[in-house]
Amino acid sequence: MSERIVILGAGIAGVTACEEILKEAPDAAVTLLSDERDLPYVRPLLSKLALNTFLRDRLPLHTADWYENRGVRLLCGTAADRILTDKKEVLLADGTALAYDSCIYALGARSHVPPIPGANLPGTAVVRSIDDLQKIRRLLAAARTAVVIGGGVIGLEFAWEIKKSGCAVTVLEALPQLLPRVLDAQSAAVLEERAAAAGISVQTGVRIARIAGGTRAEAVVLADGRRFPADAVLLCCGVRANTAVAERSGLACGRGVLTDDTLRTSAPDVYAAGDCIQIDRSARHDALGQCDTDDLNPGLWTYAAESGRVAGYNAVHGKNGAVVFAPKPAAVLLSALGTNVFSMGDVREEACDRTLCGSQPACSAAFLVNPHTGADRCYEKRFYRGGRLCGAVLIGDLTAMPAIRQELEAGQATDPAKQACKTPEVTR
Ligand SMILES: Cc1cc2nc3c(=O)[nH]c(=O)nc-3n(C[C@H](O)[C@H](O)[C@H](O)COP(=O)(O)OP(=O)(O)OC[C@H]3O[C@@H](n4cnc5c(N)ncnc54)[C@H](O)[C@@H]3O)c2cc1C
Repeated sequence: MSERIVILGAGIAGVTACEEILKEAPDAAVTLLSDERDLPYVRPLLSKLALNTFLRDRLPLHTADWYENRGVRLLCGTAADRILTDKKEVLLADGTALAYDSCIYALGARSHVPPIPGANLPGTAVVRSIDDLQKIRRLLAAARTAVVIGGGVIGLEFAWEIKKSGCAVTVLEALPQLLPRVLDAQSAAVLEERAAAAGISVQTGVRIARIAGGTRAEAVVLADGRRFPADAVLLCCGVRANTAVAERSGLACGRGVLTDDTLRTSAPDVYAAGDCIQIDRSARHDALGQCDTDDLNPGLWTYAAESGRVAGYNAVHGKNGAVVFAPKPAAVLLSALGTNVFSMGDVREEACDRTLCGSQPACSAAFLVNPHTGADRCYEKRFYRGGRLCGAVLIGDLTAMPAIRQELEAGQATDPAKQACKTPEVTR
């Protein structure tokens, strides 16, 4: 009998796992399920297409035929309730049981709604799915003012699209800077200037008291009394891993579903991938003592895809030699606010050797800033640790991006600490 593999979640992690399984075990009986009604799609495009673009045509990762022709049983609009790990079955919300030999948990993440009074009023919205976006479009069609709560990548992309659609928009960020997970403070200040030049009002370091309104949102009110009128309020406040199904199934969870570095969960023959995972490298690397014990999931497309590939491979070959998931340095590319932003690697000044190198081209330590404001308005900042490039930011002209990417990836490949994490093949 061919191997039965059930994949929970048909985001990029689940679909990439499916592609890898088809490559490694073409005879496997693969079931791929998602509670969304749409064909699996390219989620980042939700915030990268003009708000009036027709979506359902543009986004799918593959056509329905693609799955059918490869014998993949794709179940859209199907929710998983729990994994019965002792019986090796997935129980669906409608009571159906799916038997598996291997299972991959790739249920992704959901938008975080902070505990702000009024956050659930009509007129507010989050964005994670096509359905969310359709709701936002309906809201914005009748809106003259909008507030985006959250100055991260998605918040800024939406603010830009809203502005382009002709609606006045304000971005409110609780932390003292924009893109807090992506930029250092100096680079964020440069971006804030660009946002102002593009006509987007940005308020950082704010404390939101409530979303005011009677039957629907009318304004966002700050603790200091300032009030921002809003016919529509978008909550772009980060995500939380979808761990409920795992918890009900008895899988070990922290902020995400806990896995070792081969993406094996605490249950036999159950792997996990994508936005929902939290890797506990100490599970196998105690002896090395050099690796992070608690990797931060960056919540990025490439991380989800690559972890899906590894989970798919290990679901097929895990018993004979699982491969380790060694993610590349996280890279973020943003095109919004009338400019481009690229950030990759570790861009925390405090994590670098702190000597400012000015415009010296060869920098053995510290960070190097090249804040050009000439015609191309290119801003470049490089971060060094131990003489090695560990991170970089570009704002404006991104010509240097491929070279930086290459240098950072090559640096990781020769970094002794990362090497220790990259044990090539493992079984346990
Ligand atoms: C608007 C937006 C813009 C983004 N832009 C970027 C970007 O520019 N660059 C970048 O790197 N990343 C970006 N991201 C993040 C990126 O999209 C995610 O990291 C990636 O999609 C995660 O993939 P995943 O497969 O782990 O999870 P998901 O894509 O979340 O897929 C999980 C699937 O499981 C389903 N599911 C959940 N619970 C159940 C259940 N009980 N039963 C059945 N199905 C269930 C979900 O509905 C979902 O379809 C963006 C995200 C959003 C929302």
